[in-house]
Amino acid sequence: MTQPQQITVLGATGSIGLSTLDVIARHPQRYQAFALSGFSRLVELEALCMIHRPRYAVVASVEAARDLQGSLSAAGLGTRVLHGEAGLCEVAAHPEVDAVMAAIVGAAGLKPTLAAVEAGKKVLLANKEALVMSGALFMQAVRRSGAVLLPIDSEHNAIFQCLPGDYSRGLAQVGVRRILLTASGGPFRETPQEQLAAVTPEQACAHPNWSMGRKISVDSASMMNKGLELIEACWLFDAKPAQVQIVIHPQSVIHSLVDYVDGSVLAQLGNPDMRTPISHALAWPERIDSGVSALDLFAIGRLDFQAPDEQRFPCLRLSRQAAEAGGTAPAMLNAANEVAVAAFLERRIRFPEIASIIDDVLNTETAVAVESLETVLAADCRARELAEHWLNRPRRGEA
Ligand code: NAD
Ligand code: MG
Repeated sequence: MTQPQQITVLGATGSIGLSTLDVIARHPQRYQAFALSGFSRLVELEALCMIHRPRYAVVASVEAARDLQGSLSAAGLGTRVLHGEAGLCEVAAHPEVDAVMAAIVGAAGLKPTLAAVEAGKKVLLANKEALVMSGALFMQAVRRSGAVLLPIDSEHNAIFQCLPGDYSRGLAQVGVRRILLTASGGPFRETPQEQLAAVTPEQACAHPNWSMGRKISVDSASMMNKGLELIEACWLFDAKPAQVQIVIHPQSVIHSLVDYVDGSVLAQLGNPDMRTPISHALAWPERIDSGVSALDLFAIGRLDFQAPDEQRFPCLRLSRQAAEAGGTAPAMLNAANEVAVAAFLERRIRFPEIASIIDDVLNTETAVAVESLETVLAADCRARELAEHWLNRPRRGEA
């Protein structure tokens, strides 16, 4: 009998991490959790270790590692607890690992995801921010190491499923006219512009179709998520920004489409449940049960489409600008957004100010060509400083 594939789950305590572990647990003969990482929810991480009995667990600090190691050893588990970025990179590149689920949120996932890529692993990419930040370097590393990169983002997974196997020859070569990237429109799809200043983090995190972490939920509400996905699609499928059209599709049943020169349009449909793209990527090129129920088209009844509104959702325009500018612009866009979203969640700014901060950062600092990872990290750092500066600026009516 073949041994189960060894899977590292970076960001195991998050929404994608938990869905991944749900799929892994359905197929114990095929998959085994090799390493699980967590950052803040350590009680949950401990419980996950008890269930999945991984070889390694990774936490943020030495102290957290000592505590978790104590409890796991006391429970008779042989799990070794590592910490910090070095620990994450170690379990991402470990020689015994077959596949890595990159599901840390934000720039914090960049180095561990790159470590998995450089080690030539099968990399299941949920952490879109890593690719947005370091696009060219990331894709070069994939080609150099022979890593197999499979998109987990539901839209990109759908596009991957709708493209022919040899799409890396070039989209034009395989007859693709454009990619149609669908977006639900988020919780504020119908909210008038003048009401957006009053929306709360709770409203922003209440997505109509998907249950996700707080950062991506706010990104969906501002449509920055679709902006990041536009950049993600350009790197994954070697597309120009102009070849990617964003289509609002409120039901989130069609996960994206590919439009071919002969007039054929291929789409991937399914219930909005991330276990579908996760199972697809884990088993690719085979298909396995994901636990997702069959699509009931009669219950859905209709599918609607609308053009996006860049007036109410300026993050779409800013993302397209950054995609076209290239170089360090997407890394700055991403970093400014991360700072702005955290500030919105902490109620330090109003919702429309997320876009104002990003706009200000992109206008203040000129993008430069990406020479190395250091260039990317310096741009990330500078954009965070500028965004913090914006947050701390004296406001009218304040001393
Ligand atoms: P989440 O907030 O639920 O989970 C994030 C995970 O990252 C947690 O395990 C957390 O412990 C870990 N983490 C957070 N900060 C960290 C840090 N500084 N260092 C190390 N680990 C850290 O987020 P999520 O919704 O699961 O999203 C994860 C990634 O997947 C994001 O990049 C998101 O854009 C992408 N994604 C998510 C969905 C979804 O449906 N949730 C869909 C598509 C793409
Ligand atoms: Mg998505």
